[in-house]
Amino acid sequence: MAGGQHAQTVVCSLCLTSSFKLVKAERVEEGSSTDYYACSHGHSFGVDWDAPPEVPGWPPPERARHMLALLKRRLANERRGERP
Ligand SMILES: [Zn+2]
Repeated sequence: MAGGQHAQTVVCSLCLTSSFKLVKAERVEEGSSTDYYACSHGHSFGVDWDAPPEVPGWPPPERARHMLALLKRRLANERRGERP
């Protein structure tokens, strides 16, 4: 078993890093140390669980949404700043 019961769903790491979106990814295959996930945007990726998570990976905590909102605002401001 890799991530256990709380690892059934996680935030898609590819949606997060490519478009700063919190998208749910479902586990499609459970391995001995790595679980494999797929999201509705066609991404698939593996997660190596050193230890099973203590809380479900989905929904993301409120502070994750808050931090992401701050990050998006900062990036938007930087982009605006780059224009002449
Ligand atoms: Zn995705």
